[in-house]
Amino acid sequence: MEQNVLYEYIELLADAMRQADYILIGAGAGLSAAAGLSFADETLFRKRYPYWAARGRHSEYHMFSFRDWTETQQWAYMADHISRVRFETPPLPLYATLKTLLEDKLFGKDYRILTSNVDRQFARNHFPAEKVFEYQGNYDNLCCTQQCTNDVWPFQPVMERMIAHTIQETASIPDELLPHCPHCGAPLRLAFRDYPTYDSEKAAYQAWLTQSQQGQLCIIEFGVGFNSPGVIRVPFERITQERSNVKFFRITVDYPDSEEEIAYPEIPKPIANKSCSINADAGFVIEELLKIL
Ligand SMILES: [Zn+2]
Repeated sequence: MEQNVLYEYIELLADAMRQADYILIGAGAGLSAAAGLSFADETLFRKRYPYWAARGRHSEYHMFSFRDWTETQQWAYMADHISRVRFETPPLPLYATLKTLLEDKLFGKDYRILTSNVDRQFARNHFPAEKVFEYQGNYDNLCCTQQCTNDVWPFQPVMERMIAHTIQETASIPDELLPHCPHCGAPLRLAFRDYPTYDSEKAAYQAWLTQSQQGQLCIIEFGVGFNSPGVIRVPFERITQERSNVKFFRITVDYPDSEEEIAYPEIPKPIANKSCSINADAGFVIEELLKIL
């Protein structure tokens, strides 16, 4: 995108944020990638997961859709992947910059964040919990596959044990480390996608969306691709289509050479008159907004 057009669009976005009564942010993997946490790093993947690299996988993105493994291999991989994403990665400064924008530069503005990210970067950068809806939950806890209880158990100690005992030759954990429910003995799973507090969190988010019909709404999508378009991308397009007092900004880079990172900044025609596509890195746009807001 041409530089002068890019800056013009960022000005438009800044104006829309100033004028809005409500701001809805959608945060996808592209935001964390812009902040420095990428799932597409092939060098890191080869180094960290040589077993899978030798079997034709080439990135953590590539593993999201992978199903051809044993349960003990899956846990070994997930333990290490989550350790990297959630525990070894520090709170990323780009998220703190976004918080400064929303909480200081736009002090008092009513905002909500909907994210498909499970890396906990919003919580770790001290965003108020009630303002962030982690649609897919996160990687912090385990829950019962039989839903015999709403209890959850912290994954970190389990994860550390799994990593310490991973058998490198088979990239798997020993059978005896497979986690089981202390109540009913069923296998445990990560409290991810379908988790005990999903319904109440979704209801709170929906209530805010309803309330936002009272005023001007500015919707901003940062780095949302096609990994799970039903979480942010499609619902945001629908809200934009249904409402008259809305402005929609889609900020993402396209990845013409990547098989895994599929995102494009185009806007569907029916909402084009209320929307603006910014084909740029989310980090660049956020830093620019910080200068002009
Ligand atoms: Zn159970």
